[in-house]
Amino acid sequence: MKKIVVFLGAPGAGKGTAAAAVASSTGARHVSTGAMLRDAVSRGTPAGLEAKSYMEAGGLVPDEVLYKMVGELLADAPDGTILFFDGFPRNVAQAEALSGLAASGGAEVAGAVCLDVSKDALLARLGGRRVCPTCGAGYHVATLPPKKEGVCDKCGAALVVRADDQPATIAHRLEVYEKATAPVIGFYETSGALRRIDASGPAADVAALVENAVKALV
Ligand code: AMP
Repeated sequence: MKKIVVFLGAPGAGKGTAAAAVASSTGARHVSTGAMLRDAVSRGTPAGLEAKSYMEAGGLVPDEVLYKMVGELLADAPDGTILFFDGFPRNVAQAEALSGLAASGGAEVAGAVCLDVSKDALLARLGGRRVCPTCGAGYHVATLPPKKEGVCDKCGAALVVRADDQPATIAHRLEVYEKATAPVIGFYETSGALRRIDASGPAADVAALVENAVKALV
């Protein structure tokens, strides 16, 4: 059986950073639907062409695009894999669909971890975020700076600000989160497999809390 742990939290809560850190310390696989979509956009695939305009505006890409992508990924994952889902499900319809997608792919949803951060902290984090366009590594000018300013530690490429981390788009993404994604927390709370984490501290502390929560779920 493959097992899925869903990472929940607002944009900027640190889902990607924590999922990447805990995946590397536990051997789980980090699945970021945002990163997969950005890759599809840069390669110009049919899914990428469909997703591009929604992503640039900070809105949600149509559910069907995600279902196809996630369904294929689950079917391809070897048995026994633990998958950390970062960015999916992003609305209640996707959360409901995930159970069916998991069953078809020989997987089950073990539960969800929610990273809680205040709105002021989210805005500060999103404004300082930098990413490597080549290998996808994430940084922050204040809390997680690269060794050399503006340069990726892992592959040496010049770091960039994501197109959807511009101030106007950030505000819209937070609105979309409140309206569409926050209700997903209630969905997993009802199913009894939700762990909430105070994610306001440094990345290493958050990763340790997340690792404990994940171990309690899988
Ligand atoms: P992220 O890197 O998770 O912040 O995702 C970046 C963008 O990709 C989002 O603002 C959405 O436009 C799109 N996206 C990622 N995951 C999903 C999803 N599950 N449903 C719809 N759109 C998504």
